[in-house]
Amino acid sequence: MSVLTFVEVADGKIKKASVEAAYYGSKTAEALGTDSVAVVLGTAAADELATLGQVGVKKVLHANDARFNTFDSKAYAQAVSEAVNAAGANYVVLSFNHNGKVLAPRLSVKLKAGYVPGAVALPVADGNNATVLKNVFSGKATANYAVATEKKVIAVNPNSLSPVRAEGTAAVEAFAPAVADFSVTVKGVDKIVGEIPLTEAELVVSGGRGLKGPENWWMVENLAKELGAATACSRAVADVDWRPHHEHVGQTGLTIRPNLYIAVGISGAIQHLAGVNGSKVIVVINIDPEAPFFKAADYGIVGDAFEVMPKLIDEYKKFKAAH
Ligand SMILES: Cc1cc2nc3c(=O)[nH]c(=O)nc-3n(C[C@H](O)[C@H](O)[C@H](O)COP(=O)(O)OP(=O)(O)OC[C@H]3O[C@@H](n4cnc5c(N)ncnc54)[C@H](O)[C@@H]3O)c2cc1C
Repeated sequence: MSVLTFVEVADGKIKKASVEAAYYGSKTAEALGTDSVAVVLGTAAADELATLGQVGVKKVLHANDARFNTFDSKAYAQAVSEAVNAAGANYVVLSFNHNGKVLAPRLSVKLKAGYVPGAVALPVADGNNATVLKNVFSGKATANYAVATEKKVIAVNPNSLSPVRAEGTAAVEAFAPAVADFSVTVKGVDKIVGEIPLTEAELVVSGGRGLKGPENWWMVENLAKELGAATACSRAVADVDWRPHHEHVGQTGLTIRPNLYIAVGISGAIQHLAGVNGSKVIVVINIDPEAPFFKAADYGIVGDAFEVMPKLIDEYKKFKAAH
């Protein structure tokens, strides 16, 4: 038996969400008294993959095959289930991110495995059974899911746990899955450059309809630039094309858990909170003292964003210059 984690790489680098998943896999393996193994699909340097040893991974099965550089859920499901068999894994762990949400259900069908989407804590095993805590109702509550199948697929909510790194190097082994079914052909890649990816960002400045129009986003962008933060927005704003949809956070957008989330002119509807209420510190700037977001805030500024934001940007510039 072992615990196998599906680890994603982008441009040869291990994704932050996958490091968390690998840590989760290693902690699960430790509790079960078994080995933590990872599978990586696509081009990456062995040195980079060996760093998974720092989060407890003993062995990495690496399909160093450029055909995997584009995510293809069918081909990935075939390859990962082959890795599950090669590793003799009973637990399969992956991140509950974009690709994980697509891959995990396919895997669970292939492996006839029970599936826990969005786990927020390590599984508690009892013989063949396991109970896993997960978010429900858009993060408003949690529930314990009991899984009784022999194989289990667990998709871990990003930022549910902070990986603790230690000394260690994982052994990297070549892995050649017999995948026949590559169904996706990439015709072109439209890459967003120069922005901090939202899912990886520790600091986020986010704007809502209270900013009145896209021409006022300079406030969000300037503060983000000063802080070295990523920018986000509410769905209401993305729906009217003030901002691109890849910035929309919430129930139907991205789930993020940065160290700092600054919400400007956002009401704090439950569907928005679902994507951000795991942030460590939430700062809310809203003109309406009754705005629901203040209930979820660690710090709140009741005020007009058009007055508060320029002052905040200026003050932060002064603070930076003085330190
Ligand atoms: C099924 C479903 C899924 C959804 N999924 C999402 C989701 O994933 N993400 C999401 O964000 N929403 C989602 N929504 C929409 C959600 O319910 C809200 O409508 C939306 O979040 C509101 O966006 P907002 O706060 O920017 O706008 P508004 O609700 O219009 O709020 C604007 C806020 O700005 C404040 N304001 C106004 N002027 C100023 C000023 N000058 N200075 C400071 N503050 C000011 C107001 O007091 C108000 O609180 C979903 C809805 C449904 C039904």
